[in-house]
Amino acid sequence: MSTFKAPRGTYDLIPPVSATYLAVREAISAPLRRSGYGYVETPGFENVELFARGVGESTDIVTKEMYTLTTKGGDQLALRPEGTASVLRAALEANLHKAGSLPVKLWYSGSYYRYERPQKGRYRHFSQVGAEAIGAEDPALDAELILLAHDAYRSLGLRDFRILLNSLGDAECRPVYRAALQEFLRGLDLDEDTRRRIEINPLRVLDDKRDAVQKQLTGAPLLRDYLCDGCRAYHAEVRELISAQGVTFEDDPKLVRGLDYYTRTTFEFVHDGLGSQSAVGGGGRYDGLSEMIGGPALPSVGWALGVDRTVLALEAEGVTLDLPDATSVFVVPLGEEARKVLFGVVAELRTAGIATDFAYGGKGLKAAMKAANRSGARYAIVAGERDFAEGVVQLKDMESGEQTPVPLDKVVPTLRTKLN
Ligand code: ATP
Ligand code: MG
Repeated sequence: MSTFKAPRGTYDLIPPVSATYLAVREAISAPLRRSGYGYVETPGFENVELFARGVGESTDIVTKEMYTLTTKGGDQLALRPEGTASVLRAALEANLHKAGSLPVKLWYSGSYYRYERPQKGRYRHFSQVGAEAIGAEDPALDAELILLAHDAYRSLGLRDFRILLNSLGDAECRPVYRAALQEFLRGLDLDEDTRRRIEINPLRVLDDKRDAVQKQLTGAPLLRDYLCDGCRAYHAEVRELISAQGVTFEDDPKLVRGLDYYTRTTFEFVHDGLGSQSAVGGGGRYDGLSEMIGGPALPSVGWALGVDRTVLALEAEGVTLDLPDATSVFVVPLGEEARKVLFGVVAELRTAGIATDFAYGGKGLKAAMKAANRSGARYAIVAGERDFAEGVVQLKDMESGEQTPVPLDKVVPTLRTKLN
């Protein structure tokens, strides 16, 4: 063991579990790739101001969770705590919103960093796949994103997840609600931090996870009773479009998200097997964000799904993904001459697109066959001087144990046929 360990709140992805992570990223992005979303990749760090303005000065993410640093050149940067602000920044910088038709639809996958108290499902380095549809106000777009996330989870075989849905109103109705909520909250018995929050961002008090706070919130005014006609109609249509696809959701009138930029449609995917870190993904509409970071008005909607928690959800449901074996053919040379000849066969098989591995390190037959077994290969090729004298190699079916000689120059076509 080395003297070093992965930093607190982080963990390494190593085989075989790492294959599940890759498959989850793939499964979440597949529905997006089939729906007109283009891949975007932004830097792992940004100017700290982008998040301060984009995510919100009063959010936990910005006040407590952000990894900030000053570069040798004096720039104030932050490791990205989330993806939306960066993706929108990139789209604006490249003028994507002027280049083609709207919405600009983008998806991303990467690492995010938050200085949180580490626990199961909550890490300081974690992984998200996200999607953003920038520059269109259309209930069908909100519905599309919710349905695509739903498809992604279903394609992984998950069943015990629920969709929570709410509307956060807009610039017209939210201020009226905000004032009513503030008045209600000021009358409660709350600690100093929370009292301060009432003045800066009262909606987030609704999201307080503590029982003592939640108990006092019964009877709090709810946004749905304050929605303006526009927001009400918009929300009704989103609900209708989702329902029409046979996808069920739960109205959660207290659902707010930890980021300041959300307006109207807000949703969260929760999984019931995850204990207190139950949110596997979340998102919503952020009509004001572009202007908050200096861009034009670009009503947008998006989501981010947590890869780590999705993997935990799979474990909780006992779902194992049907992953193809990494290696199809394992090649075992018997002796020095065979090593050289078969190394060439390995290269040929790989060129032919057949996943092949080799017994390295001069192993004896027994150890080499053990390695072949571990590799999950469907076939092994074993050959030594005696076989070459006859111009053949031995092809072993790892399932039946059956062994047949195959002419050296027929190895590739034979395996190609057998593996199909
Ligand atoms: P939570 O309420 O659990 O803190 P959040 O609202 O901060 O979640 P988002 O910012 O919406 O989460 O991120 C979307 C998803 O990313 C979450 O649903 C979760 O699956 C994942 N996620 C967020 N923070 C972490 C973390 N620290 N560790 C692992 N996954 C995370
Ligand atoms: Mg959080």
